[in-house]
Amino acid sequence: MKNLSVKLKVTIWFSVIMIFIIAATFCIILWASSSVMQKNIQDNLVETVEDNIDEIEFFKEIKDSDPDGDDDQYIAYKDGFLEIDDDFLDKVNGVFTALYQEDGKFLYGENPLAIATEDIAFSDRIIHKVKSDGVIYYVFDCKLTSDGTEELWLRGFVSENQGTQQLTSIIRISAVALPTLLLLAVTGGYWIASRALRPVQKITEAASQISHGSDLNKRIGLGKGNDELHRLANVFDDMFSRLDEAFKTEQQFISDASHELRTPMSVILAQCEYILEQPRSNEEYAEAFTVIQRQGRKMSRLIEDMLCFARMEQNEKSYPLEKLDLTELVNDVCSDMSLIRDKNITLKRRVRSDVFVSGNRMLLTRLLTNLISNAYRYGRENGEIIVTLDMNEEILLQVEDNGIGIPEDQQKKIFERFYRADQSRNTEGTGLGLAMVKDIADYHGGNVEVSSKTGTGSIFSVRFPRL
Ligand code: ATP
Ligand code: MG
Repeated sequence: MKNLSVKLKVTIWFSVIMIFIIAATFCIILWASSSVMQKNIQDNLVETVEDNIDEIEFFKEIKDSDPDGDDDQYIAYKDGFLEIDDDFLDKVNGVFTALYQEDGKFLYGENPLAIATEDIAFSDRIIHKVKSDGVIYYVFDCKLTSDGTEELWLRGFVSENQGTQQLTSIIRISAVALPTLLLLAVTGGYWIASRALRPVQKITEAASQISHGSDLNKRIGLGKGNDELHRLANVFDDMFSRLDEAFKTEQQFISDASHELRTPMSVILAQCEYILEQPRSNEEYAEAFTVIQRQGRKMSRLIEDMLCFARMEQNEKSYPLEKLDLTELVNDVCSDMSLIRDKNITLKRRVRSDVFVSGNRMLLTRLLTNLISNAYRYGRENGEIIVTLDMNEEILLQVEDNGIGIPEDQQKKIFERFYRADQSRNTEGTGLGLAMVKDIADYHGGNVEVSSKTGTGSIFSVRFPRL
């Protein structure tokens, strides 16, 4: 059963239930028809016998009678005779009627079990059962009441099997109709199950094409619809889109990173070739090694950044979170960085005391360092940087500068890895700083946003949840 398809399982369950329902229906039909039929047979018996009572009259003399049909029968009885009207039905619809004297002597009519009933005492208007030759008969007696007939009895018989024929036809019809219905129901059930589960087939096909061919462009595309399977397919399509996007971003990252590593690497190789070509002066060696060292540092920083991204994505244990005095951390970083004195920029701070956060010291230091070094790098001559730390519903860390600013259309993109705004391409940098800031903020359950105006300056705001 485990290996069967859902479609088949549904159909089998459905069929089993249908068989039970149809079998139960069949039994109920049989039981109901048989009860109704037995009741009809008995009613018919009573009615026929009672009708026949009126067809028997007693006359002292023949002239007193008023024969209304040529076929009337006359039977000598006591000191007169009995007139049996030709309407007397001695055998109709399986009901037999016979006329008896009280002592059991048969006078007229039909009795299919003449002998068998001899011993049965007459009992007025009560139906009882008599078995003869394996057949059960209903027997119904009626005492005559008209003048002179008070000692006579009419006895009616009808076989219980009288209804068998009708019952057999019902069984025959049911035997054909019910399996046909079952077949139709099962075929219909199978068709409905196939139709309902067709989207699953599409989902499986799309998923297996993606997993085998790594074709992340493939979509299930079930179209409009709000049932469970359409919703599932849409969730899958969304997931495929996001995977596709993540995969492309990852590929882009790898190709950008390789590109960024290749440039310093070529410079280093070129410098090495240059100094090895022929003996050089000490100054030339020193200059070449300085270039090599700078490029080496650049590569090392890039590799470190990439490792940091990878660790944050893969394993939270690499950067454990602890209760951290953010006030102290911000003060320390600001003190260190205020020494830069690049472009004669002053670094000011407004730091609220006793702000604690659940964070990783290394990562948060890196976040703030990245923001402040950007503020220096893209700041203006004699400008200023203001670092603010505040706490309300959230912890707010802001780095504000009055530098070149960022055009509005690029403000979203600067958080992408390796993205650098057009106007800052002439400065040094790889474009990983803000991507790192964003990932670190995310890692701490926070977020980062920028508000900036070209030529006026920028404010980077990082928000963290309170401890
Ligand atoms: P890296 O930080 O990796 O050395 P980078 O500074 O160019 O290089 P990011 O810090 O990610 O990279 O910044 C991305 C881009 O955003 C920068 O190239 C610059 O164009 C713009 N930018 C960032 N900070 C500022 C700022 N304070 N003022 C103006 N532009 C900024
Ligand atoms: Mg930067």
